[in-house]
Amino acid sequence: MRRSTKLGASRRKFLTKGALGIGATALVGVAAQDEAAAQRITKWDRSADVVIAGAGASGLCAAIMARDQGASVIIVEQNHDIGGHAMVSGGRIPLGGGTRLQKKFGIVDSADQVYLDHTDFHNLELRYSDHDLVRVWADENAATFDFLLDNGVQFDEVMPTLVNEGTVPRLFRTKVYSSDLKVTINGSPGSGLVRALEKSARAKGVEILLRHSLTRIVRDDRSGPAFAEASAGKRVQGIVAKIDNKEVSIEARRGFIIATGGFTSNVAFRRMFDPRLTEEYQVAGEPWSKQNADGEMLAMALGASLWGTSNVASEHGRSVTKTRHIGARYGYENLRWDPGSPMFPQVGGAGLTVKSYQDLICVNQFGKRFWNELDDTYGFLNACLGRHDPDAKAKKLNGGGPIWAIFDADSVRREEWEPKPPNVDPNGFFFMADTIAELARKIANPYQAAPMPPRTLEETVAKYNSYVDAGKDPEFGRPGLMFKVQKPPFYAAWATPILHDALAGLRINGRCEVLDVRGQVIPGLYCAGESAGGFALHGLPRVTVFGRIAGREAAHARKQA
Ligand SMILES: Cc1cc2nc3c(=O)[nH]c(=O)nc-3n(C[C@H](O)[C@H](O)[C@H](O)COP(=O)(O)OP(=O)(O)OC[C@H]3O[C@@H](n4cnc5c(N)ncnc54)[C@H](O)[C@@H]3O)c2cc1C
Repeated sequence: MRRSTKLGASRRKFLTKGALGIGATALVGVAAQDEAAAQRITKWDRSADVVIAGAGASGLCAAIMARDQGASVIIVEQNHDIGGHAMVSGGRIPLGGGTRLQKKFGIVDSADQVYLDHTDFHNLELRYSDHDLVRVWADENAATFDFLLDNGVQFDEVMPTLVNEGTVPRLFRTKVYSSDLKVTINGSPGSGLVRALEKSARAKGVEILLRHSLTRIVRDDRSGPAFAEASAGKRVQGIVAKIDNKEVSIEARRGFIIATGGFTSNVAFRRMFDPRLTEEYQVAGEPWSKQNADGEMLAMALGASLWGTSNVASEHGRSVTKTRHIGARYGYENLRWDPGSPMFPQVGGAGLTVKSYQDLICVNQFGKRFWNELDDTYGFLNACLGRHDPDAKAKKLNGGGPIWAIFDADSVRREEWEPKPPNVDPNGFFFMADTIAELARKIANPYQAAPMPPRTLEETVAKYNSYVDAGKDPEFGRPGLMFKVQKPPFYAAWATPILHDALAGLRINGRCEVLDVRGQVIPGLYCAGESAGGFALHGLPRVTVFGRIAGREAAHARKQA
């Protein structure tokens, strides 16, 4: 039966609108204790043993696992559909330790070997990981892969391959769920993971509330003011989620799991780790699903700690990547948006897939080359993000601003591009002109700090063409100079690097309980997925394992009185 939300008496005095609507801002000047009492929820709209925010890869694993332990489960999901980034992912899941599929292909593996492979200090991507978490993760690899199989996830049954951090073949790929783009969103293999998990979760009785955004974590306030005694035994009791403009309070009798998927979409938050990551950097997986750091911020307001923060700027792994699909806003290397996708009106363009960066030059927003375009390392990315440029001084910049690929009609022929919609997005991300100067004048994009000076772009192209004649790039040492930019029409295509993984997040222990800044457990609060920090492993293997652990542990937590 649906129960109504009741507020503490002191809270009611301060409210001017909505049941729970305005939160702490309306309470400025009120003593912390009053605020705590004011935020108390004495009657919940809904109640479940385990409540989860986020129906992506980690949230769905958590939900099924909790349900398998007999817990009732509600997931709140902000989007109009499940899946998160995992829906549009490549579905590559390197889990090992002796999975059923590894055995089928005669591969011998063990949890110890998985652990050793992921704690090798030569691996700069994983060097700064919390080894306690890696150990737990390694021990749960095989069980998690088999759990995915048991819950209907299908993999391409071909001999698995090695990945960077492996001495044993572990990489299997999920099968695309359906040929219907409305179901898969973009036809990506990751749909085979999340749709299968969704089906299993629903069949087992997990309730998924779509379009519900987590807006508040409610904690037991009986033992004192909110932040000062952050972890002093005060238990998370439930959450408030918003649908349209209404708020719904949901009690979490055993535990609440944050599975909101990380922070890369939140500019202020991501700049805590790297101040250069200003707004021009787009995020792979958007506009389908966002990583707004909601879970992290709400937990931090309860005193939660972040963990493994250096991983974001370690310059290894996929915090930032060079784009492969140019001329469109969301040009991530492994995601080309299909014009038939229901998301396409928001995507704007699929992008021109670059076969060889020999076919173009890259310039910054001032029309200057800044690095060897053929370089795929963090050398190139660092130059994009903030190479010193005298013109930048006056512009109050932090990140390096837009990067534009400049090319000509011959490049188009060689690359076999069709430089028109839907392949490119002419609304600010792709331009064409008969002269270089006109091209510079046409570039109008919200992230340009100032118009590109036509003269500078002309000089840049002329200089580059002279390097091709000389067979040498004295400025940036680009090898094998092959083609001039000389035949009209000329093109400018968005080629700004894109952000990918959130490689840091909330501090958790091996049971996925969230810890506060003093290293104490915040009772009743769990986290998994990209919102959890401490282990900089890319993607699905990390988030599925910890999702499953979080669901199991929350389901077995003591029920609150
Ligand atoms: C294009 C692309 C390709 C990738 N390919 C691979 C790959 O091949 N292999 C691999 O291992 N990894 C891959 N990844 C990474 C992988 O998809 C992610 O690491 C993984 O999906 C993260 O899981 P998660 O559960 O933490 O977040 P997500 O799967 O993103 O799910 C988080 C969910 O939380 C929801 N949410 C956010 N805020 C709120 C809120 N306030 N209230 C309620 N709900 C909220 C979101 O809408 C989302 O549905 C890829 C990612 C992308 C974008």
